[in-house]
Amino acid sequence: MKAALEAWQQALGAEHVLNDTDSLQSYGRATIPISRRISAVLRPESTEQVSSIVRIASEHRVSLYPISVGRNWGYGSANPVAEDNVIVDLSRMQGIELNGELAYAVIEPGVTQESLYRYLKDRGAQLWIDPTGAGPQVSVLGNALERGYGITPYGDHFAQIAGMEIVLPDGQVLHTGFGHWENAVATRVFPRGIGPYLDGLFTQSNLGIVTRIGVWLMPVPEHFELCLFSTDKDENLDGLVNSARCLLLQGVLRSSLNLMHRNRILTMVSQYPWDLMQGQTPLSEEVAQKLADQKRIGIWNGVTAVYGTRRQVRAAKAVIRHELKGQTNRLVFISQKKLEFLERFPGPLSWITGLNIPEVIEAVRPGFGVLSGNPTESSLAVCYWRTPKKPSGASIDPARDACGLNWFAPVIPMTSAHVREFRSIVEPIFEKHGLECCITLTSVTARAFDCTLPILFDPQRQGDPERAEACNRELLEACAACGYIPYRVGVQSMSWLKERSSVYWDFVARLKQCVDPAGILAPGRYGG
Ligand code: ADP
Repeated sequence: MKAALEAWQQALGAEHVLNDTDSLQSYGRATIPISRRISAVLRPESTEQVSSIVRIASEHRVSLYPISVGRNWGYGSANPVAEDNVIVDLSRMQGIELNGELAYAVIEPGVTQESLYRYLKDRGAQLWIDPTGAGPQVSVLGNALERGYGITPYGDHFAQIAGMEIVLPDGQVLHTGFGHWENAVATRVFPRGIGPYLDGLFTQSNLGIVTRIGVWLMPVPEHFELCLFSTDKDENLDGLVNSARCLLLQGVLRSSLNLMHRNRILTMVSQYPWDLMQGQTPLSEEVAQKLADQKRIGIWNGVTAVYGTRRQVRAAKAVIRHELKGQTNRLVFISQKKLEFLERFPGPLSWITGLNIPEVIEAVRPGFGVLSGNPTESSLAVCYWRTPKKPSGASIDPARDACGLNWFAPVIPMTSAHVREFRSIVEPIFEKHGLECCITLTSVTARAFDCTLPILFDPQRQGDPERAEACNRELLEACAACGYIPYRVGVQSMSWLKERSSVYWDFVARLKQCVDPAGILAPGRYGG
């Protein structure tokens, strides 16, 4: 290890090779109950330096764990899957090249949602990014490699990648799609190139370090309206699920639709009511309903948006109103103009409508931001539900603030029968472990929901971390037994994937053996 560190210091400069206790501790912070021994952290600034790092690691047989920014909150943050890895932190690589005419950017791993958003804004580019709820400071590339998603029409992040640059475990640099053809001009506009389509192999895997990708951006539409609805009747969920499928399959909705349970909204807008609950967990139905009534939160709450020309949006709104008729207590569309109007006259409007308009604005603004390409921190508040600390300060960092969050994210066919069966499995498991079940159903295709279930706990509270991990484990097992498989897992659950031997995982292991026989890159990640 000593010799490897010296070689890396030569290649990167000593200040970019960290192995002091404070640095290693800060990279090891996570919102899930794990702690990994991290041997060192390397901070390259170029693809050439990444190649050198890999060659040195190979020579000295040291395992590396690449991260883009390392804010993979709820899945392990910057922590490797295995012990004693050296983290390769790519956050210094922040290059952005824009092609406004063809609506794409070529970006490096350290480009965050905020920096890409600002870059476009500063240049007056009429293009939007698709932000995730993970906040402004996360990597755009890192999320695409985990096949994460947002909720605008460009929400499927892997589907927006056009051409990748990858450092292989032997240090060679691979360009996918047309990128390896000299003078290729269509690499960023036709991702598949010719021959086997390799890009997927470098997502949720450990076969290479991705140093650059092309990413498609959404042209700002002529018009856009946020759509919010809610129902006070749990039994309306069946109909809402069927309506969502119908609107998506017909193409009336081009963006994603979210159906959020009351508990999920409560965790976003408040913190655990320890006083009302007299220190007991989980949150009782009675108290949950009381809090929801105060804030006018329905038992199910829908969020989506309509994009297009003014005429398209008008037509889509009429179809949505018709489709949801009789299934909601409230249904509103909010345009930029309407929002500005509410913001200008909060007092008189509160008096006229009987609504608390400042509160309405506070609730609507973040959703409006995310659905129009502006990354906000609003969804991150969830992490602070059981944590004594309040989300505050310039930039929210749930790992720094010792929050407890573990995501469980299974995929469910978009039918009411599946949603009902799924609920009948997960709700009792949360109850059994003394935790709140906070379902969000997010359409990830026109035929499937991903259910992002945050397992929220207080890492400082006796027994909470153990309960959270037991809950995570039981959810994985019980859902998989009924066919509901997660689209992504945290570093502590990678070994669970490998517990089942199959042609699929054997093939993944053979690929790994072939590309990286010494196991230099991210050992244990997603079956490899
Ligand atoms: P973010 O900060 O955007 O949430 P991370 O940087 O934590 O994302 O990336 C999420 C995961 O994806 C990491 O744990 C790592 O395993 C993998 N990863 C991230 N960036 C790269 C990369 N450039 N090359 C290969 N794998 C990566």
